[in-house]
Amino acid sequence: MADKSFFIDTSKCTACRGCQIACKQWNMNPATKTVQRGSHQNPEDLSYSTFKLVRFSELEVDGKQKWYFFPDQCRHCSQPPCMIMADMLKVKAITKDEATGAVLYNPKVKVKGADFKQIREACPWDIPRWDEKTQGMAKCTMCIDRIKEGLLPACVKTCPTGAMNFGDRDKILEMAQNRLKKVKTIYPKAELLNSDFLRTVFLVIDDPKKYYKFADVKNENVIASLNHLTTVAG
Ligand code: SF4
Ligand code: SF4
Repeated sequence: MADKSFFIDTSKCTACRGCQIACKQWNMNPATKTVQRGSHQNPEDLSYSTFKLVRFSELEVDGKQKWYFFPDQCRHCSQPPCMIMADMLKVKAITKDEATGAVLYNPKVKVKGADFKQIREACPWDIPRWDEKTQGMAKCTMCIDRIKEGLLPACVKTCPTGAMNFGDRDKILEMAQNRLKKVKTIYPKAELLNSDFLRTVFLVIDDPKKYYKFADVKNENVIASLNHLTTVAG
């Protein structure tokens, strides 16, 4: 099986949240109780039982009210900082599936709160989550059980607009570059986020910080933190 990737084209996202619900349903994760916080984003954040979250950002662009939507999830990094940190702490909960590149957490492995804190802090995109009761960690699994059976991840299968895409990495990167070229003719600030080393490639039409504070981490910062982690890990 070839190296896989997601391409998330936020310019096509309508925030229907089908991907978020499909993820919950496939993983048999319970609904999260929420309250009205003055935003249509629901729930407030990722959690042990919410692996996919459509983030809402409401802002003014060129004097007009705009919505920017960001279907957030694990980036399935080529060199996952969370895994490097877990290995360093001798926490045997994170593995990488060599065939697809999926970064996988084993929620059955108990992780101490202090160790989880360091693992979460190692992730530049703030993805890992932990459950106090079970002491397990969880996040997006790339729907590894589905893709090994030749199916698309549940979020991609459900997306009605073509915002969520998945497939062999070379084809996905080509798709992302072609789409970027097209989108740039309308939105000159459009860019792909960290496409060189992430298996979840986002296309945004504006400054990524306007979408969400952890939407984008500069390549040089990720490389610096990886170098630091690998040096410490020896
Ligand atoms: S995005 Fe975060 S949780 Fe996902 S593989 Fe990368 S470091 Fe790990
Ligand atoms: S299913 Fe597609 S259009 Fe709907 S919120 Fe998710 S990414 Fe956006």
